[in-house]
Amino acid sequence: MTILLCGGGLDSMTILAFSHSDPSWGGEVSQRLKVPKIDSVLWVDYGQAASKYEKASVQWGCLRYGKKEMLTSSVTLDIKVMGNSPKMFGLDKNFKQGVNKQDFYVRNRNLMLCTLAIMYSDEIIIGAHAEPKSGAYPDAKISFFRGLEKSLNTLLRKPVRIHTPLQNLDSYDILDLASRRDPELVSNTHSCCVGIKGGCHQCGKCKMRDAHLGFQFR
Ligand SMILES: [Zn+2]
Repeated sequence: MTILLCGGGLDSMTILAFSHSDPSWGGEVSQRLKVPKIDSVLWVDYGQAASKYEKASVQWGCLRYGKKEMLTSSVTLDIKVMGNSPKMFGLDKNFKQGVNKQDFYVRNRNLMLCTLAIMYSDEIIIGAHAEPKSGAYPDAKISFFRGLEKSLNTLLRKPVRIHTPLQNLDSYDILDLASRRDPELVSNTHSCCVGIKGGCHQCGKCKMRDAHLGFQFR
């Protein structure tokens, strides 16, 4: 069974849209992406401020791309009790006064998500890509996932596969692919860390998204 880790953002939602499960979604582009067949979609509620909108996006994607029955798993954690990234969890009422990239960094989040997904399956898909800015987050790098895969193979003594089909693309490529795949896809994804519908236009995710979509920063 292959599980897609989907947070409702552009990257994982694009993978969902290009799944091979339906032959009509194939074609040259998705062949080039090498998106494996997706058997299940996993969304994790770890107390993030944007959980409501993330979940709505994932549900939209599952319905839109014929995977309604595949949203079989959602996990609820409460990481905010650890005081990790207060703005990310909507705990900082002074948000509007300043935005710092580190305010939205959940330490080792991808490591946590992969570990959860591997509880369900030895084959998972994650929307990591070749965005240079991801270098700021150690567990967002492609090299991190290759290293994790190798370690799990050794330590668990069985083949574990972490697919990263977007690894050769940057955000502009992914936006282009998503727009061509489905004109309604991009507007139905949710990227804002703060949890504001349509975006806060201040957090790192919003700034990146706005830049790609040609908006002016506010
Ligand atoms: Zn935002």
